[in-house]
Amino acid sequence: ANFSELKLHPWIEENIKRANYGRPTPVQKYSIPSLQVGRDLMSCAQTGSGKTAAFLVPVINAILSDGPQALHQPTTMQGGRRRQYPAALVLAPTRELSLQIYNEARKFAYRTPITSALLYGGRENYRDQIHKLRLGAHILIATPGRLIDVMDQGMIGLQGCRYLVLDEADRMLDMGFEPQIRQIVELSEMPPRGERVTAMFSATFPKEIQILAQDFLMPNYVFLA
Ligand code: AMP
Repeated sequence: ANFSELKLHPWIEENIKRANYGRPTPVQKYSIPSLQVGRDLMSCAQTGSGKTAAFLVPVINAILSDGPQALHQPTTMQGGRRRQYPAALVLAPTRELSLQIYNEARKFAYRTPITSALLYGGRENYRDQIHKLRLGAHILIATPGRLIDVMDQGMIGLQGCRYLVLDEADRMLDMGFEPQIRQIVELSEMPPRGERVTAMFSATFPKEIQILAQDFLMPNYVFLA
């Protein structure tokens, strides 16, 4: 298989070539078509497997293919603050991983109208993160705690979030992020499962991840070991 068989938007195909990716890795070969047809996904993928492109490529492709209406980024003013409505949310456990995902997202969205923003914890870069967010972002990549802070300030609404990715879900649970993740997915204005496409990636598949998959994914989700 090669990337041209995946019927991606020509701009993305161009960016994949520019990144010097030859053929899709196994996780890409199975994840991309599943997400393209809107099936939820649970993938047991290790770092180095190409899992980042496995979710970013179909998400960027879908937002581009949804047309100009979907590309339009609504912003509203709420109590004197501008609120952003990302179309896709990627949750990751650490600053390092979220930064890597952000850099890949910029690579695949190069010369497209798709924009990304990054939110992670700590005081460094906070103002810069907020500044970039306010310029508008289709894809928001965030660590759970910082995302909740920024949502509490009214700067983000998730009602338009049609793509949700949990990267390194097992590590997020190990770090104690389950309450924050559940708050974001179950107690925000995020569309319910079935009205969004959800992909979970985890190196391991213990009971706690199985339960999260049961709660967040449609029952007919694709399982990739
Ligand atoms: P990841 O598992 O997403 O952290 O990716 C591991 C590394 O492999 C990254 O440096 C990617 O840029 C690279 N990579 C991912 N997919 C491919 C591919 N299909 N061909 C060549 N390199 C890739």
